Amino acid sequence: MATHDENKMISYLTEKWGVIDCPMCRKGPLQIQDKVFQLNEYHQGNLVVGGPLVPVIPVTCINCGYTLLVNALISKSIDLAVASEAVPETKTQEQKA
Ligand SMILES: [Zn+2]
Repeated sequence: MATHDENKMISYLTEKWGVIDCPMCRKGPLQIQDKVFQLNEYHQGNLVVGGPLVPVIPVTCINCGYTLLVNALISKSIDLAVASEAVPETKTQEQKA
């Protein structure tokens, strides 16, 4: 499982959000997960290898459990080069021959 640059993530959220509490319970604190997760495109329940993925970092309220997802690429907390390695490549007809 991939990790991300936590310092970049904290800097990004501080720049964009400032210091905030949980938007639901207004308490918090919020905790940034140290792992990167991914959202897969829905294909009627079928797993499609090589489909589009969205890398996300969960941010969770320690008080109430509310969890929001921040795009890891937009927050620049993962490298684009590393992210593209995480996406399985689909072979073209030329590569299969
Ligand atoms: Zn909360």
